[in-house]
Order: sequence, then C-alpha cells, then structure tokens
Amino acid sequence: MISQREIERRYNKLLRDVETDDYYKIDLTNRVNCYVCDCGHITKTKDVDAGVTPFFHRCERCGVPAKSTFYKDIAPNKQPTEEWYRPTLKEAFKMRKNMDLLDHVLNGGLDVRKIKNR
Ligand SMILES: [Zn+2]
Repeated sequence: MISQREIERRYNKLLRDVETDDYYKIDLTNRVNCYVCDCGHITKTKDVDAGVTPFFHRCERCGVPAKSTFYKDIAPNKQPTEEWYRPTLKEAFKMRKNMDLLDHVLNGGLDVRKIKNR
C-alpha cells in the first residue's frame, strides 16, 4: 500500500501546481455541470475547487452512469445538488484503500459530495 509519506509528497506537489499552473486558474463562479442520464434525469453539480471532474457520474436518481454536458448548463432553472471539491490531505490518507480514487485526487481530480441544505 502507498505510504502516508508518499501521499503527502504528492499532495504537496499538487497544491503547488494548483497555485501556479494556469490549468487551475479558472473562474468558479457558476461553474456548473449537468450529467444527463438515460432515465431522463439530470444530476446538476457545481465545482467549488478547480480540478478534474469525470465524464461519467452516477445518476442521483437511478444510480447508473450519466454523461457530462461539459459544463453546459442545460437546466438553468434547477439548483445544483452535488458539489465537486478537493479533498484535504487527511481525507486523502483515508482513500489509501481506493487507489483509483486516490490517484485521481493526487492528479488534480475532485471528489463529489451532496450539497447540504442551507
Ligand atoms: Zn438515471
């Protein structure tokens, strides 16, 4: 299994890249994406950090992979229900058993969570 030290090394490098790399210099205002499912449902998400999000994402209604519209807001009257965020180093340590997810995160990928009602 990957060591915590190695995770920390890669995580710190990632944070440096996020600060300096143009790839991460995107405007997060209204950075919403829609995932369209064959069942007809649209799972709307927003990015709260700059990073990589997947092309397929689980439909919140039926659970099968739904397709990204590449940040085209096709449901302007709908509120996002999930948000993509950069996990903390502590959260990354907990992903050691899921190397695919951990690799995704250490390569600049975001994880997703439900938006809590405010
Ligand atoms: Zn669905």
